[in-house]
Amino acid sequence: MSEPQVIVTSSLNKFLRGVRDKNPEQFSAFRVQTFHKINETAKFLKANGGGLDLSRKLIDLSMQKEQLLSPDKKVSCKSGCAACCFQSVAISQAEANILTGRPNGDHPSEKACRFLNKDNLCSVYEDRPSSCRTANSILDPKQCEPGGTKQELFSYEAHIYSSAESTIENKILYIKDLD
Ligand code: SF4
Repeated sequence: MSEPQVIVTSSLNKFLRGVRDKNPEQFSAFRVQTFHKINETAKFLKANGGGLDLSRKLIDLSMQKEQLLSPDKKVSCKSGCAACCFQSVAISQAEANILTGRPNGDHPSEKACRFLNKDNLCSVYEDRPSSCRTANSILDPKQCEPGGTKQELFSYEAHIYSSAESTIENKILYIKDLD
């Protein structure tokens, strides 16, 4: 059976590399299974209106579920902590359509995401991309700073939804590229 053409989030890719390194004999089957899940989820999202609203809700619920299932991994992200808002954020075309034309935040650093404000708050929080929704630190927020031991709560399910959403768009852009 040929593999469907799908877009895989970078975190899910990292997770797959971990599976390959730990269980090389199971990796091939697991990869095929993951690609099919993304493809089936993309079809489900398309059948239910194309996806972004639904996929965001499902991503948020998946992250909450992961936290409930992993009580030893408390999410330490707090309002006003924006260490992860200094990275390049990948977005889909649908997310770009929503964010294009939104006013920039007023964070003084040129390295900050254009939507971050000077109080370290996201000015488009309700519409923040899936990449931002899946970024949840489980260590002291200081560890998200450059050189820290960054570690996130990983939800396989959330990344299936996020990858499916990107697959529907068949395109990956970056916030920094928005007009
Ligand atoms: S969109 Fe919001 S949450 Fe995402 S990186 Fe930019 S400021 Fe941070």
